[in-house]
Amino acid sequence: MFKAKLVKVALALTLFGSLFSISMMPTASAADINCPNGYVGLTFDDGPNPGNTTNLLNALKQAGLRATMFNLGQNARNYPSLVRDQVSAGMWVGNHSYTHPHMTALSSSQMSSEIMQTQQAIQSATGAAPKLFRPPYGETNATLKSVLSQNSLTEVLWNVDSQDWNGASTAQIVAAAGRLQNGDVILMHDQYQTTLQAIPQIAQNLKSRGLCSGMISPSTGRAVAPDSEGAPPPSGGTGAKIEAESMTKSGTYTGNISSPFNGVALYANGDSVKFTQNFTSGTHNFSLRGASNNSNMARVDLKIGGQTKGTFYFGGSSPAVYTLNNVSHGIGNQAVELVVTADNGTWDALLDYLEIN
Ligand SMILES: [Zn+2]
Repeated sequence: MFKAKLVKVALALTLFGSLFSISMMPTASAADINCPNGYVGLTFDDGPNPGNTTNLLNALKQAGLRATMFNLGQNARNYPSLVRDQVSAGMWVGNHSYTHPHMTALSSSQMSSEIMQTQQAIQSATGAAPKLFRPPYGETNATLKSVLSQNSLTEVLWNVDSQDWNGASTAQIVAAAGRLQNGDVILMHDQYQTTLQAIPQIAQNLKSRGLCSGMISPSTGRAVAPDSEGAPPPSGGTGAKIEAESMTKSGTYTGNISSPFNGVALYANGDSVKFTQNFTSGTHNFSLRGASNNSNMARVDLKIGGQTKGTFYFGGSSPAVYTLNNVSHGIGNQAVELVVTADNGTWDALLDYLEIN
């Protein structure tokens, strides 16, 4: 009897150990022993650019680096899938104005327009609006600072200028990164071969000095350890993408639609679609592409195994992807349900697909 008890305890400990390591993964970097000397902020401005962004993201991923991408709103509007690629590669996305003007030459309302259009372009691509703003040319003034604070944006300049925009060689860019100290931010661009080729050596240099690439804190504008917000997908991701129209429909009014995409509309409280997913690990990111049928905010709850895990929001009728990061749930076969619970009669929720990573 004693022996049987011991076996049970050992089994429970093993199970606990494996659950523990899975749930710790997204936040483990906060106390990373590989970063004894702290964190620096790598930043890349003026993207996304179709000729460069994919190569840059691949180079960063391969080097184990994460960075903040200060995107131009007009580029984000033209290449939304590249903005989504930045997020899924583990990068953070900031606002760098819509058209790259000299902001200090603009009126307050022109500044607002540059900033708001970019927030909208990035939000409609990724489901999240940036919290960081970098003024083009680093030019700022009191009017701009007040417009930024009205939009809950933190201004981020830099401590080190790589001079990649000014013809610096790869060796000079690497040397500039070599001057970064804990908390510092370096200016680079999503545009140049020289910058791209510097990435592996920047990674080596930081590692040799006990520094890691971190996120930029919206409260201080300085580099800090990454937190779970915006973290890359936890490993063990299913990579599954499930079209709404292939899910099981229930509720009074649930029906297929063919515009603005092939999908399903949920018209009233209780309307839902569901499917069964087999999970091999207990934490995933869930991205739902959808829209409202009008300018009102539509809401769709995510339920897994009968428990509500979060809510997807769609702020208007143009389709957007909204992501719930690091959702914990049961392992094995689980019922995954998308259900409307907050409909007050002013919107319908239109669903395209759900991605699990
Ligand atoms: Zn710029």
